[in-house]
Amino acid sequence: MPEAAPPPAAKPAPPKTKSAPQKAMEKLGLLRDIDLALHLPLRYEDETRLTPMAQLREGEPAQVEGVVVDSQIELRGRRQLLVRLRDAGEPERHGATLLLRFLNFYPSQQKQMSAGTRLRVRGEARVGFFGREMVHPVVKVVDEHTPLAQALTPVYPASAQLPQAYLRKAVAAGLARADLRELLPGGSVPRGLPPLKEALHFLHHPPPGVPLHTLENHSHPAWQRLKFEELLAQQLSQLQAQRERAALRAPVLKAGPGGLHEQLLAALPFTLTGAQQRVVEEIAQDLARAQPMHRLLQGDVGSGKTVVAALAAAVAISAGWQCALMAPTEILAEQHFRKLVGWLEPLGLKIAWLTGSVKGKARQAMLDAAASGEAQLVVGTHAVIEDKVQFAKLGLAVIDEQHRFGVAQRLALRHKLREHHSGDGLPLEPHLLMMSATPIPRTLAMTYYADLDVSTIDELPPGRTPIVTKVFTDARRDDVIDKIRMAVADGAQVYWVCPLVEESEAIDLRNATETHAELSAELAGTAVGLLHGRMSPGDKAAVMAQFSSGQTSVLVATTVIEVGVDVPNASLMVIEHAERFGLAQLHQLRGRVGRGAKASVCVLIYTPPLSETGKSRLKAMAETTDGFEIARRDLEIRGPGEFMGARQSGADLLRFADLQADTELLQAARELAPQLLDQHADAARRHAARWLGTKAEFLKA
Ligand code: ADP
Ligand code: MG
Repeated sequence: MPEAAPPPAAKPAPPKTKSAPQKAMEKLGLLRDIDLALHLPLRYEDETRLTPMAQLREGEPAQVEGVVVDSQIELRGRRQLLVRLRDAGEPERHGATLLLRFLNFYPSQQKQMSAGTRLRVRGEARVGFFGREMVHPVVKVVDEHTPLAQALTPVYPASAQLPQAYLRKAVAAGLARADLRELLPGGSVPRGLPPLKEALHFLHHPPPGVPLHTLENHSHPAWQRLKFEELLAQQLSQLQAQRERAALRAPVLKAGPGGLHEQLLAALPFTLTGAQQRVVEEIAQDLARAQPMHRLLQGDVGSGKTVVAALAAAVAISAGWQCALMAPTEILAEQHFRKLVGWLEPLGLKIAWLTGSVKGKARQAMLDAAASGEAQLVVGTHAVIEDKVQFAKLGLAVIDEQHRFGVAQRLALRHKLREHHSGDGLPLEPHLLMMSATPIPRTLAMTYYADLDVSTIDELPPGRTPIVTKVFTDARRDDVIDKIRMAVADGAQVYWVCPLVEESEAIDLRNATETHAELSAELAGTAVGLLHGRMSPGDKAAVMAQFSSGQTSVLVATTVIEVGVDVPNASLMVIEHAERFGLAQLHQLRGRVGRGAKASVCVLIYTPPLSETGKSRLKAMAETTDGFEIARRDLEIRGPGEFMGARQSGADLLRFADLQADTELLQAARELAPQLLDQHADAARRHAARWLGTKAEFLKA
């Protein structure tokens, strides 16, 4: 008997391979139906009506319908396809005509547009001496009965892998399927704004005749409704995070009289400014509470944040806990390390040093010292938060230049104390102090950072002379080099910053190396150092040490010196291709000078022509050295979405609302959020989920 063939094994479903557009949609965060429904058009195309050819106006986008009179390939000059249309709505003999010009085309296109074919074309008209024409219009073959669009055609934010047509279909489907039920209780939405569902359908498919500018400038009530929704979601998640934090526990860190921080104060070579005293006090009060501190210390470059961090560390250590201090770069971490060693080791503290380049036995020794609690303070880069690093009792974590760190890293720090519990049995988290020289404008602080307490050092230590900023075109490079010569002869030190070429680190490097060779040649007899990102940490440290000690007078560097480097004798800063830098970055770089008693100068060299934003950035730099004013202008130039590495901080959650312009909606959302959370907790949760999806987590870090 022949063996029966075994029953076919149930085939596992083939692995779903995602198409390029699907992947592109995911990248844009378009995962759920609601995400698609909330993906709103950037602008619209009007395919609802036809413009008679005779009424076409120069430069205006329009849709016309016509019959092909003739089509030919012209060979003179550049090979091109010319198709002549006569207006379909006019009598054959006297009608207006329009020439379509295609510089790239397929033979099939010529065939498709043969004489007698009726075409609907959309494009921008040029009206010139030889008549009307459109270059590369969008063309559709139609007949007399092909209907016009009933609504404006949306144009969505897309990407290269994601064709509009595909996205339009996906959005329409998402919009149809999404649950758009009204979640907000009656009377809670500002008056005059439509229900969400209505607003969304309207914005995706506005009927013909809607004044386009009210859609484009987002002033239409439908847009207002969307902005309100968005602001509310954001306020809700902030409030939620704030409440969750209040329920967390942290060790109570109080330093008694005669404690370490008092000893440190007594030993410092200077007295604190009034502003420093104030923020130290604010931090001490937080540390003495049983809830984890979540405080941002902001102060302009050179305002003296490091010593404030050291004092906070001294309080924590005095209370019997450990402190970790992280900086974004090895150079900066090392500088902190040296300063802290200088201040704290004489008081009998042990400080561990931990970065990626600490290896082998030295690393093990550091890890042991942190885990046993022998090291009261651990200073380093992001290496400090790796899983392997265990602390005996981490009471306080300090993050310098916090915007350089990601949310995940901040979360990791908060979880370093998990095994410890408070008296009431809750897990403990360390206190968190974040420092930044890029101040957050007030409007942003109020909204994005509602769950963050802010301390501000608004005063520079005495004896600083203001920095004068000059803006030159690159034609005056030689004058700048003369200035350097004079400064060096005068005993000053100089930074020369080469721009970062984002596409290629190699070019970046070559620029810096070439500039270094050039300056070395032009400034014969002067020691010129070179510092760039590709150097080993050891080499970087050596170059920095030579500059700090004055062995080199000029330091050519890429932006590796951007953050926190402190060499008070440096008084001239030259930034080449300043137009390529962001405003906050320029301000940071400029902050490397003006740290000593010498009057300092910052020279910004640019290569014309300047873009509008480039112009406003350089203008801002020339007009003010106040970090807050710079931040305000930066916000104005870039908008909040891009602010402070926004993507990492969750700040880009606001896609539609504008904090500067939508203050009334913001106010209404701020008022509604606590009511909703208290009285309609479920609606609040669903509203936040609708808008933020999984991003809500991010707001907590
Ligand atoms: P930043 O806020 O940019 O991190 P730093 O902490 O590096 O600034 O301080 C800049 C310089 O000012 C350092 O050399 C620091 O020792 C010094 N400094 C800090 N506070 C004072 C003060 N109250 N008086 C004089 N110098 C100070
Ligand atoms: Mg600093």
